[in-house]
Amino acid sequence: MKIAVYPGTFDPMTNGHLDIVERGMKLFDKVIIAVAPTRRKQAFLSIEERVALLNEVSKSMPKISVARLDNLVVNFAREEKATVILRGLRAVSDFDYEFQQAYMNHQMAPTIETVFLPAAEGVGHISATMVREIAEVGGDVSPFVPKAIATYLQQKRQKP
Ligand code: ADP
Repeated sequence: MKIAVYPGTFDPMTNGHLDIVERGMKLFDKVIIAVAPTRRKQAFLSIEERVALLNEVSKSMPKISVARLDNLVVNFAREEKATVILRGLRAVSDFDYEFQQAYMNHQMAPTIETVFLPAAEGVGHISATMVREIAEVGGDVSPFVPKAIATYLQQKRQKP
């Protein structure tokens, strides 16, 4: 059984993240989406909201589970018996950070490999940061995020 952990903040989940999840399902027996706390002082969505939304989006995907990441990714992976850390790679700007993280994780846990999937055509330009910026000023984010996320963000905005 090949288990992969897909860590990230998913604040909010985008079509780019969804694409990595869907392709990850074809490569691994199980993919655990591990939702990390955000480094920003004020999260756009709380960790509870992010976990709930990821559960909603993946509810018809039996190979996918969603968990909170309160631990180092490599420790979480060991606990879950995962041997792969799954990450998506977009533009050159992702490389430095992703490589540094992969090397450090490998040094801490040599039996766990990082697997990078290149962003798919059509979603490689999407970032959660830009989606947040659009949503915060009331723009329509539905071209960039799964339907359940767009609906939730719209409802949240309409609440007094
Ligand atoms: P982090 O908070 O660590 O930057 P994110 O939640 O933004 O993580 O993203 C998690 C993973 O998904 C990262 O590996 C990131 O490169 C990847 N990712 C984000 N957006 C896209 C996209 N549009 N296409 C492919 N991969 C993406």
